[in-house]
Amino acid sequence: MVKSIFSPITINQMTLRNRLVVPPMVTNYGTEKGEVTDRLITYLEARARGGFGLITLEATAVHPGGRGFQKQVGLWDDSQIPGLADLAAAIHRHGARLSVQLFHAGRQTYSAVLGTQSVSASAVPCPVCKEVPRELNLSGIKEIVRSFAKAAERARIAGADALEIHGAHGYLVNQFVSPYSNRRVDEYGGSLKNRMRFPLEVIAEVRKAVGADFPVIYRISARERVPGGLTLEENLVIARILSEAGIDAFHVSTGVYGSMPYIIPPYSLPEGLNVEDAHAIREATGLPVIVAGRITEVFMAESIVSTGKADMVAMGRASIVDPDLPRKAAAGAFDDIRPCISCNQGCIGGLLGPAMEMSCLVNPTVGKEKEFAVTPAPVKKKVMVVGAGPAGLEAARILAQRGHSVVLSDKSDRFGGQFRLAALPPEKQPLAKLIRWQADQAAKAGVTVKLGNEVTRQVVTDARPDTVVVATGGKPLIPRIPGADAPWVASAWDVLAGKAPTGQNVLIMGGGSVGCETADYLLHLEKRVTIVEMLGELARDVESTTRYFLLQRLNNLGANVVLNATIVEITRDGVIYERQGQRQELRGFDTLVAAFGTAPENSLVKDILGIVTEVYVIGDAEEPRRAIDAIRDAEKLATRI
Ligand code: SF4
Repeated sequence: MVKSIFSPITINQMTLRNRLVVPPMVTNYGTEKGEVTDRLITYLEARARGGFGLITLEATAVHPGGRGFQKQVGLWDDSQIPGLADLAAAIHRHGARLSVQLFHAGRQTYSAVLGTQSVSASAVPCPVCKEVPRELNLSGIKEIVRSFAKAAERARIAGADALEIHGAHGYLVNQFVSPYSNRRVDEYGGSLKNRMRFPLEVIAEVRKAVGADFPVIYRISARERVPGGLTLEENLVIARILSEAGIDAFHVSTGVYGSMPYIIPPYSLPEGLNVEDAHAIREATGLPVIVAGRITEVFMAESIVSTGKADMVAMGRASIVDPDLPRKAAAGAFDDIRPCISCNQGCIGGLLGPAMEMSCLVNPTVGKEKEFAVTPAPVKKKVMVVGAGPAGLEAARILAQRGHSVVLSDKSDRFGGQFRLAALPPEKQPLAKLIRWQADQAAKAGVTVKLGNEVTRQVVTDARPDTVVVATGGKPLIPRIPGADAPWVASAWDVLAGKAPTGQNVLIMGGGSVGCETADYLLHLEKRVTIVEMLGELARDVESTTRYFLLQRLNNLGANVVLNATIVEITRDGVIYERQGQRQELRGFDTLVAAFGTAPENSLVKDILGIVTEVYVIGDAEEPRRAIDAIRDAEKLATRI
């Protein structure tokens, strides 16, 4: 069924065993000196072992002034060669090939990372990073061109099989090419010929460094998606110029930091959003093309290659979630492939959040492959897992895989808990894939599932388990506000579940993720919706790329928003709130919906006191948290019991 993606392909002198590519994705698993670590090797080696044909090392800084992240790998110094050589050897052990992406952030970084001012084609700040970069003078340009060549040479010495020049996503090479960021009036600015001077010099010097027989790929954003940015039509001309300069293949993506949500498209954007652009570049240049951008399904990858839209498919986030995707696809075990749900909570949210490193909601073992290794349990136990949401399912599956005898119960007759509700608002349906996969894998691991089965003290007494894992989730939080427990107040969960009918004029109390997504859902049903929120902005708890589209939809669909409003009383048809010491009232609503948050639901713990010695509480049942944290808790616990 999937033959095309498993056919070999040759780029210059490099032959790949298949068309499946791990694209460069920043993990921040390196060191502050830009070295490759064992952790990074373990992470990438798992993808080589799992069958990907080409593994691309993430944005590898060619110059210390070109770093975008604190622990990003680099090749600006010979001391960085040995780590890369170890990585190349690890990748080669499994028959895959290693490409190294040569990167300079230009203005898309921070002085806090660099310890100095960033540089760019012009002194024009990036709208996201906001710092004014220093315009490179001619000797500065020459120095960076040389650093690309030196880094290329080091990559070849270390045993890399190919290079990728990062000319996309608004980084330095892109900054020179685009009039959006290049306002120079010398020979590096103005006309297309002048703006192309920098990338052409980089390509020429890299070629000199590695020779004609070494594959050099160029990553390009087919559209910048910002006002004044490069369009597809302009990039087709640019791609032709680059191909004449000796590029062997293109890696097609989209966007710059000013259009960041398109670079790593969340579930709000269509799958394979760059496929037609990649095809246009392939047609314009006649060169092989890799396409990236929300390609999560093997069958979509197969269709892209078999119809000649592109030659190779970058399955970035899909490879994060399941390193064994190619191996499973080749064996026809499609249902076993752990799904990427395009949530961006770990891969982007983790990188841009306090941890500043890549993680994954669906696969908590990412970057922790050794820590979370599933090994046989030293003592096999009888384990009862209560609650079949994502945390309970994850715990049950792993415990069973480790040899424990596991019974998973839930009082509901369905899997998923609150996470199932989270998959109901518009565009969030991919989330349901996780629950389907977890339930399927739990059954395959030998978990006995009892849905529609409420666990009580008596049930536990009769079953006599050695261990109980309480993953009973949460319940809607009812704050101490007069009227909050009134019978005419519906919970957002009941609205999403279709248990609470709503009128035409709805007030949602709470503008976090649940409140905003419920508003989105109701607006799609053509209701009038007002959101009242205590903080100064909506959906603060939503990952940034996802939030961008959520807020855009709320705005486009006409949500009325009242911010900085602390509700002090809930009335029969509205609320009284305080803002800046003033009391104000919102009234005239026919439905009031509470989205104040979640309270833990763990009453079972005290009910079974004294009858089971080993009781663990995970996920929202312990304390409300994000799904990514709940699943990670489950993994941590289940790999240790
Ligand atoms: Fe996919 Fe979400 Fe994991 Fe990112 S965090 S790789 S989007 S499942």
